[in-house]
Amino acid sequence: MAGGAEYDAIVVGGGSGGCVVTHRLVSAGWRVLLLEAGPSDDHLFVRMPATFVRVIGTERTWIYESQEQAAANGRRMHVPQGRTLGGGSSVNAMVYIRGQAQDYDAWAAAGCRGWSWQEVLPWFKLAECNQRLSGDLHGTTGPLKVSDTRFRHPLSLAFVKAAQECGLDYNHDFNGVRQQGVGFYQTTTHEGERASTAATYLAAVKGRRNLTVVTGALVHRVLIEGGRAVGVSWRDGSGMHEARASKEVVLSAGALATPKLLLLSGIGPAAQLRQLGIAVQRDLAGVGENFQDHLECSVYGQCREPISLLGNDQGWTAFMHGLQWKLFRTGLLTSNVVESGGFFDTSGCGRPDIQFHVLPTLVGDVERDPWPGHGISLNPCFLRPASRGVVRLASADPEAPAAFDGRYLSAPEDLATLVRGVKLARRILRAPSLACVVSHELAPGAQAELPDAVIEAHVRSHAKTVYHPAGTCRMGADNDAGAVLTPELEVRGIAGLRVADASAFPLLMSGNTNAPVVMLAERCAASILGQATPAQVKAAA
Ligand SMILES: Cc1cc2nc3c(=O)[nH]c(=O)nc-3n(C[C@H](O)[C@H](O)[C@H](O)COP(=O)(O)OP(=O)(O)OC[C@H]3O[C@@H](n4cnc5c(N)ncnc54)[C@H](O)[C@@H]3O)c2cc1C
Repeated sequence: MAGGAEYDAIVVGGGSGGCVVTHRLVSAGWRVLLLEAGPSDDHLFVRMPATFVRVIGTERTWIYESQEQAAANGRRMHVPQGRTLGGGSSVNAMVYIRGQAQDYDAWAAAGCRGWSWQEVLPWFKLAECNQRLSGDLHGTTGPLKVSDTRFRHPLSLAFVKAAQECGLDYNHDFNGVRQQGVGFYQTTTHEGERASTAATYLAAVKGRRNLTVVTGALVHRVLIEGGRAVGVSWRDGSGMHEARASKEVVLSAGALATPKLLLLSGIGPAAQLRQLGIAVQRDLAGVGENFQDHLECSVYGQCREPISLLGNDQGWTAFMHGLQWKLFRTGLLTSNVVESGGFFDTSGCGRPDIQFHVLPTLVGDVERDPWPGHGISLNPCFLRPASRGVVRLASADPEAPAAFDGRYLSAPEDLATLVRGVKLARRILRAPSLACVVSHELAPGAQAELPDAVIEAHVRSHAKTVYHPAGTCRMGADNDAGAVLTPELEVRGIAGLRVADASAFPLLMSGNTNAPVVMLAERCAASILGQATPAQVKAAA
């Protein structure tokens, strides 16, 4: 075992959250070691917005596989996650969404002191550098670049108009006073390029003498002495290593890896750890529990003309698109693919319960090839899952996959919400602006009226993750036995150990998860540095 180097802080996982924490600690003068299991993010298909789909399934993603899911026809769900600097923010669809105010008020009501909407909003604004929007709800000077995409495909435009023809309002800002409505997403892009947390936060401190970044470093466990995290061990191409942290170890390995690291380090349900022969450092029942994810289910329409995004991107055409992007950072390759969407209240509960991700092309997933030919995919997704899953160790071997049971669709209301979403998508597909470019529905069926049982069967056989795993090391109040973290994101009962990633969410927010992870990581860093307000963070930057 090589090693012995000492740092002020070690950050495990250079993803969405990890790059933010690293930026702030390095800027404050701390000596920081950032360990990332995957390779660097230096790849054309990462920088070019439209090509992220080509990164999935390569060495820059993990594909986590669930156990068989009883409520989804016994299928195993496959959950891609980022495995490179920037993590999910380097491979995601770049949609910039924060969620609903009620989501964060529910966090506060569940015992997360300081996390109500009014309290988190200033931290969203601290992070944000919005190119178009300003005012009370938006930041314009933060590290995270947010902009409108430079390209809008005719099928995305047709969807936005078709939804309005169904009576849904146009919304120019899903992060504004009202989330409800249909429109175009803002994205974490900057001048036609992806703006991941690696390209923004990490790049801003790259080369500083107090920062060491090691890629290809798979962390095995946190080293704990006398109830305090003092370092980590990891393996890379040259063998096993150890490093020590005098002040803080921060876990940012994502919601499927952070609980695994805690368990391997002896932090988790004591009985489970003993069964695997792992010495218990801290009995914490909630580690790996409370898994949540968003699921969506596609409605596919066949185009009358061969126009779908990237559908003609071959040979000379592909070359010209590439050249346009290279020279001007404009054109089709600046599309984030998921250009349009919306938020709809399908239950009458008074707030949206369904989000649409609309792709101007026919998409498949890890399990299925896409439909052949040209078309559009309308993907309704439920916003507040009621199903809860679990992540456990399958063995004490740090390199063995964890046992992950998402228990997807186990709560009947999740199925019911998706069925309502699919019905709405089918209605929009038939509205005039889409009907004139779409000849017929490919799935779930061409007939305008389908029995609920047919739609339910389609959902059980086709529902897939929106890649938002969360909640597996949730924060909560002192008297909450299932809370793994304090509201300051400290691991309960272990000094010098925090979590800054999606596993800390107590509840999924009503929307995409990258911006909320960035906000949470900003707060984690500020808490470590003793900065109580965004103004203090700015003053120290
Ligand atoms: C394909 C895809 C599309 C998405 N689209 C959107 C979208 O459009 N908008 C949006 O807001 N969100 C989107 N998301 C979700 C969002 O990107 C994630 O929620 C977010 O990136 C999670 O951040 P995180 O810090 O929790 O984890 P991650 O960003 O996943 O970071 C974890 C990092 O830790 C590393 N790691 C894991 N284990 C170890 C280990 N043992 N040792 C060292 N390093 C380790 C990983 O390689 C990874 O780089 C998408 C995600 C995916 C995968």
